[in-house]
Amino acid sequence: MESISTPKNTREILNKYGFQFKKSLGQNFLIDDNILKKIVAEAGIDERTGVIEVGPGAGALTQYLAQKAKNVVAFEIDRRLEPVLNETLKPYHNVEVIFQDVMEADIQTVIQTHFKAAERVMVVANLPYYVTTPILFKFLEAAPLLEAMVVMVQKEVAERLEAKPGNKNYGSLSVAIQYQADVDILTVVPQSVFIPRPNVDSCVVKIQFLKEKRVHVDNEAFFFKVVRAAFAQRRKTLLNNLLHNLFDRSLKDEVLSALAETGIDPGRRGETLTIEEFAALSKALLKLSQ
Ligand code: SAM
Repeated sequence: MESISTPKNTREILNKYGFQFKKSLGQNFLIDDNILKKIVAEAGIDERTGVIEVGPGAGALTQYLAQKAKNVVAFEIDRRLEPVLNETLKPYHNVEVIFQDVMEADIQTVIQTHFKAAERVMVVANLPYYVTTPILFKFLEAAPLLEAMVVMVQKEVAERLEAKPGNKNYGSLSVAIQYQADVDILTVVPQSVFIPRPNVDSCVVKIQFLKEKRVHVDNEAFFFKVVRAAFAQRRKTLLNNLLHNLFDRSLKDEVLSALAETGIDPGRRGETLTIEEFAALSKALLKLSQ
């Protein structure tokens, strides 16, 4: 079947079914074959790979995924796309579209039931912008069952995912992802490859999950509380952020001695701490929280 990812073919099929884009659902469809080929090639999808796609839209990326992968499971929230996808994905018998909000899906169960024949499972998607971060966190929870995610996201989100300590974009999202994955921005994508055009540039990002988490922490929930507190007000020092957002001021001496124990200067800002330092700090502070 002819690829639908050209402006003409996309418009034709959407018009045929009277489809109107909904901005609230982050519907910006890809109309550039080169970008689609690049996404599929960079993901390294082959006949051993099972793919989860979020938001197939009119099926532009799904077609390319289906040609390379063992099988594809795609979650689409918008039922109006059903007749469109029935047509564009008709030749591909290794694709199943589930019409459901991906945020409500049980990803673990989907992986266990749909990808028995695959050797590895990846998430590949042009993500809807309004819900990018929640979707990333949703898949992070399923990380032990996933090899990687190759996703199109807003450039600004990509920069936060990839940022290193000291960079203005480094924050709790960077730490949460890099705690269990390597992140690479593969390419910057101009607005012109989508219809309708979004207001910002996008990036294709590869999130490659690590076999083991980057650092060992005894209490993950507390580790992330420390991280969030440290970044809560970026102009504040680490000490002030911890005393404002995690501990009572009366514990100042104890917090200072935990910082001394880890060799971290209380006057530093959260954005300068490495993941290893956050792990050491959360270990030293854990006893104060109990
Ligand atoms: N993959 C298509 C492409 O690249 O042309 C469409 C990508 S478009 C940026 C995002 C898609 O995600 C839309 O089809 C939209 O309806 C769908 N979507 C939005 N929110 C969703 C959600 N919570 N769960 C599943 N799909 C969603």
